[in-house]
Amino acid sequence: MNVALTRADFERVMVPNYAPQQFIPVRGAGSRVWDQEGRDYIDFGGGIAVTCLGHAHPALVAALTEQAGKLWHLSNVYTNEPALKLAARLVEKTFAERVFFANSGGEANEAALKLARRVAHDRFGPEKHEIIACEGSFHGRTFFTVSVGGQPKYSAGFGPVPEGITHVPYNDLKAVAARISHKTSAVIVELVIGESGIVPASHEYIQGLRELTRTHNAALIFDEVQSGIGRTGRLFCYEHYGVAPDILTSAKGLGGGFPIGAMLTTAEWAQHFSVGTHGSTYGGNPLGCAVGNAVLDIVDTPEVLAGVLSRADAMAAKLNAIGEKSGAFSELRYRGLWFGWQLKPEFAGRAGEVLAAAAREGVMVLLAGPDIVRMAPSLIITHDEMMEGLVRLERAVLSLFKG
Ligand SMILES: *Cc1c(COP(=O)(O)O)cnc(C)c1O
Repeated sequence: MNVALTRADFERVMVPNYAPQQFIPVRGAGSRVWDQEGRDYIDFGGGIAVTCLGHAHPALVAALTEQAGKLWHLSNVYTNEPALKLAARLVEKTFAERVFFANSGGEANEAALKLARRVAHDRFGPEKHEIIACEGSFHGRTFFTVSVGGQPKYSAGFGPVPEGITHVPYNDLKAVAARISHKTSAVIVELVIGESGIVPASHEYIQGLRELTRTHNAALIFDEVQSGIGRTGRLFCYEHYGVAPDILTSAKGLGGGFPIGAMLTTAEWAQHFSVGTHGSTYGGNPLGCAVGNAVLDIVDTPEVLAGVLSRADAMAAKLNAIGEKSGAFSELRYRGLWFGWQLKPEFAGRAGEVLAAAAREGVMVLLAGPDIVRMAPSLIITHDEMMEGLVRLERAVLSLFKG
């Protein structure tokens, strides 16, 4: 088939659950991406906080191709060296003592929620199965994780949701205290709500959740699928809080663009996932784990983590200047290289227009709902790439909002 592929083919052959931009990217290097016409874009979206080392990083390409020439897949009937190495490093670097690998964030959360219920069931019986989650949270698109996620639009219309799930307002400790009981198996929380606009949890909230879950023998689950792997200037965001969970989930940045997910937990909790209780055909495959190891080699260094914070401040200063010039934004929230740029109420609903205008000017950004422009660039974006992207973004914003 030698026919040129076009964006029109999307409508012809793809399920219409996405609405991709009009151009088709074909190649990337660092924080720059080229489309079929050879136009270039600065990537501030990072593939939704995934490509933490940009595109085609030589070390990741080398790790993947080297492993590709050795061994791709055997299933979990066998273990493999890249998986053992990556698990050992995650154990060494975190509160965790055991790791389960999956292929995505949603699957890592699915494993976390199943483990929490299993532990509760084994220790206290079937009545202890309730899950407390936050309004506005996002935990994935499997049916269990959309049910636990706090955005009803994602679970509506798919039939009855699993029982025993409650949603409470984010950052509201009293709401959790009022809801938690001897029937609670888990409280799941994002340390920074990503899909709802980069809203960080307060320290008191996270400390309070730790105490409440301990008192009620419930699992505290941190969903670090988006916040982890250096995004906030620490390997995992929970390090900022000095509070360890019982279960933590990682994905996105962990593979730098190669699909991988991980659930981290203690030895005591892990033993409830005994042989046969849970599994995945591809989870922990050598390719994904080899890339994960290469990602950690680079991200988990003082230079890169410190670089996240300095880059973040530089980018925030310029975004604030653009925000003022345009008069369109009420607030810029950021934690490391992770930005939520809130439109003023009079411009509500127009974040999608910003994304489209940015694409026209040659810069890729993301949304967090209709009123917030989200950005999550590479953790090692160069100064020149960043400044070029910001100049383009300024043009885009001023083309819509004249200040
Ligand atoms: C992206 C995301 C997920 C889902 O990850 P997938 O890899 O898309 O399944 C879960 N939780 C959070 C916080 C996320 O940002």
